Amino acid sequence: MTGDGCVVIVGGGQAAASCIAALRAKDASRPIMLVGEEEHLPYQRPPLSKAALLGDETPADSLLIRPAQWYEGVGLRLGRRVEEIARRDGRLVLCDGERLAYDQLVLCTGSRARRLDAEIGGELAGVHTLRSLADAANLRAELLPGRRILVVGGGYIGLEVAAAARKRGLSVLLVEAGPSVLGRVASAATAGYFRALHSSRGVEIREATNLIGLVGGGSENRVRRAILSDGSEHDVDLVVAGIGGIASAEIAEAAGLDTANGIVIDGACRTTDPNILAAGDCASFALGGRQVRLESVQNAGDQGEAAAASLLGEEPAYAPVPWFWSDQYDTKLQIVGLGHGHDSVVERPGKREGARSIWYFRGESLLAVDAINDPAGYMTGRRFLAAGVNPGRLEVADAAFPLLSLLPARV
Ligand code: NAP
Repeated sequence: MTGDGCVVIVGGGQAAASCIAALRAKDASRPIMLVGEEEHLPYQRPPLSKAALLGDETPADSLLIRPAQWYEGVGLRLGRRVEEIARRDGRLVLCDGERLAYDQLVLCTGSRARRLDAEIGGELAGVHTLRSLADAANLRAELLPGRRILVVGGGYIGLEVAAAARKRGLSVLLVEAGPSVLGRVASAATAGYFRALHSSRGVEIREATNLIGLVGGGSENRVRRAILSDGSEHDVDLVVAGIGGIASAEIAEAAGLDTANGIVIDGACRTTDPNILAAGDCASFALGGRQVRLESVQNAGDQGEAAAASLLGEEPAYAPVPWFWSDQYDTKLQIVGLGHGHDSVVERPGKREGARSIWYFRGESLLAVDAINDPAGYMTGRRFLAAGVNPGRLEVADAAFPLLSLLPARV
């Protein structure tokens, strides 16, 4: 199968599925192999911190991005880890010793959850991270009414898990090391909304607070108590750490490719080896004057497509308008753009009660929009960012002003 233009994709997530779909659409004859460490075909991860934690077991099949028969003709090596990229031979070394030849390689190795250090009890039984289907199944089984859960980290994972745990009747204590929940991704206004939302649902939130240590006990050495930097101690039945992700870039680094918080790629998804591309959570690239790594469905999907175009000799110039979303209780947060480096924010009330959007500016430039239960505000922000048009702050703040009239026709 190899030696005839074979593309081998390493990592079986959203970016891989998207790359395969785009490759097939452009060149149905191109041989493709997919090597994935997990046993599953590519599946959707966003539900793992939301619906999959509620209700009954989530069958893996219901989360598949494409049904199994769609992969007919794709060589599959699932449940196998790539140990090494032997670039000189154009081969991959798999964990079972198989040496797999490639002509072109796409690294879609994703990212993994950061874990709490073992020294502070991170390896005790009952301490979870959440990234895979197996992680979600393990966590769901532990979300029993009346239990006490400590959530470490107030990012998306932490807040979504907190919401699911409250819905399942647990008492929830959430600690965030930074000064504010959602501190890395949102403004004070958005963070304030979600802090208040969780507090109103009974989540106890402690910001600017670190976890000092977890204490275990019993024959299983299971977590029992948490000690925080504010001096307080809490009895807990389980812990979830949502403290960020780490790019899975080790095999790329060991093979001598450039890495910097991820596998460094250009706008056409090429690494420093022209036969090796990367896409999705594992890839680090220049966007808006910064080197970024985006852990999002949008990025995995669009970058996977760009990688396919690049493999076929096109010259894609990947410059996305990133978007994200989060569901917590009955609130939907949609974010478009990257608000990093903003120096002012403007709030715009939405049409429906409680709906609003928060617009981030640096100088006169619009950087990002957060929309809270406001899909129309999100779509409007998205159109401005896609068009590169900067609305004035006064117009944004005036809910009666028809913002879309500022856009050229059909943008
Ligand atoms: P995250 O967004 O990086 O948030 C982690 C948070 O934990 C940060 O606020 C961080 O604070 C804090 N933290 C770090 N170490 C801590 C500690 N020892 N004690 C207390 N707090 C600590 O990461 P995440 O929530 O784990 O999510 C992982 C990835 O999955 C992210 O890229 C996220 O975007 C993605 N994801 C997205 C969604 C969605 O879009 N709805 C849902 C789930 C996951 P500092 O910033 O101060 O370090």
